[in-house]
Amino acid sequence: MSSENKKQKKSESVSNPSSWSLSSYRIYLILFLAIILIYFFISMTSGAKEITWDQFKKEMLLSGDAAKLNVINKETVNVYIKPDSLKKEKYKTAAKDILGNINRGPHYYFHIGSVEIFEKNLEEAQAQFDENKKTTVQYTNGETIWWINVLSWLAPILLLAVFWIFIMNRLSSGTGSMGRSIFDFGKSSPEIYEKGKVSAVTFKDIAGYDEAKTEVIEIVEFLKQPENFTKLGAKIPKGILLVGAPGTGKTLMAKAVAGEAGVPFFSLSGSEFIEMFVGVGASRVRDLFNKAKQKAPSIIFIDEIDTIGRVRGKALSIQANDERESTLNQLLAEMDGFGPNTGVIVLAATNRADTLDPALLRPGRFDRHIHLNLPNKQERNAIFKVHLKPLLLDPLVDAEYISSQTPGFSGADIANVCNEAALIAARKKKKAIETQDFFDAIERIVSGLEKKSKIISPAEKKIIAFHEAGHAVVSWMLKNADPLQKVSIIPHGKSLGASWYLPEERQIITRTQFYDSLSAALGGRTAEEIVFKEISSGALDDLEKATKQAYMMVTQLGLSEKIGNISFYDSTGINENSFQKPYSEATGQIIDEEVKKLIENAHETAKIILESNRGKLDALANLLLQKEVVYKKEIESVLGKRAVKEEKVLV
Ligand code: ADP
Repeated sequence: MSSENKKQKKSESVSNPSSWSLSSYRIYLILFLAIILIYFFISMTSGAKEITWDQFKKEMLLSGDAAKLNVINKETVNVYIKPDSLKKEKYKTAAKDILGNINRGPHYYFHIGSVEIFEKNLEEAQAQFDENKKTTVQYTNGETIWWINVLSWLAPILLLAVFWIFIMNRLSSGTGSMGRSIFDFGKSSPEIYEKGKVSAVTFKDIAGYDEAKTEVIEIVEFLKQPENFTKLGAKIPKGILLVGAPGTGKTLMAKAVAGEAGVPFFSLSGSEFIEMFVGVGASRVRDLFNKAKQKAPSIIFIDEIDTIGRVRGKALSIQANDERESTLNQLLAEMDGFGPNTGVIVLAATNRADTLDPALLRPGRFDRHIHLNLPNKQERNAIFKVHLKPLLLDPLVDAEYISSQTPGFSGADIANVCNEAALIAARKKKKAIETQDFFDAIERIVSGLEKKSKIISPAEKKIIAFHEAGHAVVSWMLKNADPLQKVSIIPHGKSLGASWYLPEERQIITRTQFYDSLSAALGGRTAEEIVFKEISSGALDDLEKATKQAYMMVTQLGLSEKIGNISFYDSTGINENSFQKPYSEATGQIIDEEVKKLIENAHETAKIILESNRGKLDALANLLLQKEVVYKKEIESVLGKRAVKEEKVLV
């Protein structure tokens, strides 16, 4: 989702969520403190001071200070002191309650084991007293203030309730629905673009994708003038699925639909449906569709639908997610529930259409799929032009040249390159953004921040230089490897050095191209082996890449002779988590052997090339040690012109 999307404020929901939630927290705090205070107060006022029988006998009974005794529930004896005696120093604290008023008692209390023993002890203690001087004893059952009793069990419950409300509030605000009360828990909180406040994005802001745009424009026209379609009996699709890699402009496309159609647009991410509690997602789906139907014609946009729409029952039982399934079921039911012409259209975006539940894709639901692929060179050029427009550029900046240097970049990456280039130019206090700034930006995006400060010893630097020169020489000499642009031994992010290739725009890779790229990947390690007679850990990335590629060639692309034209690729992803392999153990062994053979052959090729071009390898490595970054022209002057690749026509 782009930042612009986030900037748009929700038109529904509470007007100022932050102040609302602040005051609600205050209320909870006051409630909490009040309960604690009441508790404290009660325990203070009701509590007489506890003493022992001996203390009572010596200090109060024998001195004749005790006015009366009250035996409660046959276990506690409350002691009331005579008002006159209360004036004595030793009763100073008991004479007044916490508010400073005269304490009417009980002033003290003590526990007894049994009434009989208590009476016997009392009798003995008062044996020498006159009958009329003896302290009177009363017996009461359950003499406690009723509301203290009630409060003593109500207070913990109240405390729990306050705590629960607090947690719920935090939870719901944590899922992007800031400021919603717990009573809105099952409601959806889509971002809504109403008429008049529609998103400012239009189709003009989307470069390229002409086919996709044509399909989407049809929807916009239907929403604007449904009669044109319905009078001919046409039904407009209910659901449209935008499929494409991250950053290919799916959200942008949906926003443009809203911008052009001028109808209310409800935008929500798939993950916003899912909550800890079962049933919440389903209720949010219902709520979202109700809102949309009330405002029909309208558009619902669900971003990242794969979070709720994954194939049901696919997960292992330990990961089963009932909540997700019930949310999906509700979504399916809602999509069936409204007729094709009710005027609610559901747009959804995903980058993994292959993992979606087939029920979601069947006719009547998301039956129209619009694929947004990574842009090709021309499209990239167009996207660059859109994003270069607001920038202050040096006249020499050539969008076409820059776009040729960014194969595989998505629209979002390109937007990022433009912004990064502007930042780099600003940092260097330039008056306009120059071509070099764009290259620096591309580099930064491709391999993380340049780290010139990383300390590398001269010996290590030598190994890195020969390693990178190895890649360069092997790929240079192989006709089918990608053309090399630049070699660098400046550490980038995680890697210590890098060779930059310019992959061609191609949809099909031949077996020879695969072989050559394997050899190029192993060129680094082979160079170390030949030059230093020792290998290092620096080849980890290369080996990983080569191994993965070799396994893909054998198990998925049918490029190994022994395995033949068999592919174990599973486009549905259903067996992704399965522990069982789709092939027998014997086949597994052959696969491993084939992969090993491929890697060994690639290594052998690299070795032959490097040994027969040892002079060139040394020259390039020395140039790298001296300059750190070597460009194509300099590489050409050391290695000679690259053998031109034979044009292969594949029919
Ligand atoms: P997705 O939803 O596919 O992940 P977004 O729609 O969020 O990608 O795209 C992110 C950003 O990339 C957009 O805001 C826009 O700046 C840029 N972008 C992507 N595709 C295009 C395009 N075709 N034209 C112009 N800008 C694009």
